[in-house]
Amino acid sequence: MTANLLDFDLEGLTAFCERLGEKRFRAVQLFRWIHQKGASSFDDMSDLAKSLREKLKNVAHVKALDVISQHISADGTIKWLFDVGGGNAVEAVFIPEEDRGTLCISSQAGCAVGCRFCSTGHQGFSRNLTTGEIVAQLWFAEHFLRKHLQRDERVISNVVMMGMGEPLQNYAELVPALRVMLDDHGYGMSRRRVTVSTSGVVPMIDRLAQDCPVALAVSLHAPNDALRDNLVPLNRKYPIAELMDACNRYLAHAPRDFVTFEYCMLDGVNDQPEHARELVELVRRHSRGGVWCKFNLIPFNPFPESGLHRSATEKIQIFAKVLSDAGIVTTIRKTRGDDIDAACGQLAGDVMDRTGVGERMARQRTIMLKPVAAPSKQVKET
Ligand code: SAH
Ligand code: SF4
Repeated sequence: MTANLLDFDLEGLTAFCERLGEKRFRAVQLFRWIHQKGASSFDDMSDLAKSLREKLKNVAHVKALDVISQHISADGTIKWLFDVGGGNAVEAVFIPEEDRGTLCISSQAGCAVGCRFCSTGHQGFSRNLTTGEIVAQLWFAEHFLRKHLQRDERVISNVVMMGMGEPLQNYAELVPALRVMLDDHGYGMSRRRVTVSTSGVVPMIDRLAQDCPVALAVSLHAPNDALRDNLVPLNRKYPIAELMDACNRYLAHAPRDFVTFEYCMLDGVNDQPEHARELVELVRRHSRGGVWCKFNLIPFNPFPESGLHRSATEKIQIFAKVLSDAGIVTTIRKTRGDDIDAACGQLAGDVMDRTGVGERMARQRTIMLKPVAAPSKQVKET
């Protein structure tokens, strides 16, 4: 079996090259060809000796993911559905903003945590993605976008692990993938611009602090254990007080001096002013002095099986005000306007029902595009 070179961080690739009798600088060259230039064919790697290229062809390949579909929005948001085999698909979303380009990527096919408000959770768990499959989403998106936008320099400046799956339940494959993102010979991203989002796998938060401290987002969704047990079943294993302590320990290693708490606004469930006041108390109780967290309120993206509804905008604003009046920096995530529900309905059987990621990340009108097979193909609107 030949090795997929997308599975390796630079250390892994160096070990692989050493087994072939090649020095470390060859691994660096190879790594740069793959990640910085987007090469997948050894023949394109012109400064590698021909003998090495021939050797590599026998033992290695760069295996991308097949793109099932691509949707592009008027504001440039792009969603891809990738085939990961066995009838499973995962989604990645590119969100361009004035000062940054963010890619939201998946860590698992499905998810075992089973949060009530999440369509991935309702779908159940299929399998962990490999490091190569996590990296392939970034590799594809970055090099596709450079061609699509005709840019020579890097397009994706930020990565958020907020697609399908619980990244900290796929720790062994996640960490090398993060290292590829951070490596100066890879994507050269700043630790502050790579965010792991977790529903609260406490022991793994501690390990991440040691192994690869990047920005941390924690999906809180409730101010007390009774409510959180119900919304995020993992809370029964790692209750809120333990989670808060883990966040505080993480901050000693983190590239940022705050943790972001994500809070999905569910009508009549967790969106009352009392809940916001309880959150203020919670944050104060666990504060070791000064600001240590920010809140990101996410208007719920409904799906039929959930039986839940999105909080009204005014309610979200009142909730945000309680937090910000208490000195907690609070943002409300922008969502798509309701005017595009029809367009999303059309995609329901294709993308949205299977993952829900695009639902929660996309903010503008989506236009269905023809499926594309490779990064080099031109994007055409249908
Ligand atoms: N498993 C990780 C990361 C993936 S989910 C986690 O839970 O943090 C990324 C974010 O999307 C989480 O904050 C999650 O709570 C939120 N989310 C999930 N389903 C949603 C929905 N239907 N509407 C709005 N946000 C949702
Ligand atoms: Fe899994 Fe995150 Fe969805 Fe919960 S919100 S089911 S942890 S992907």
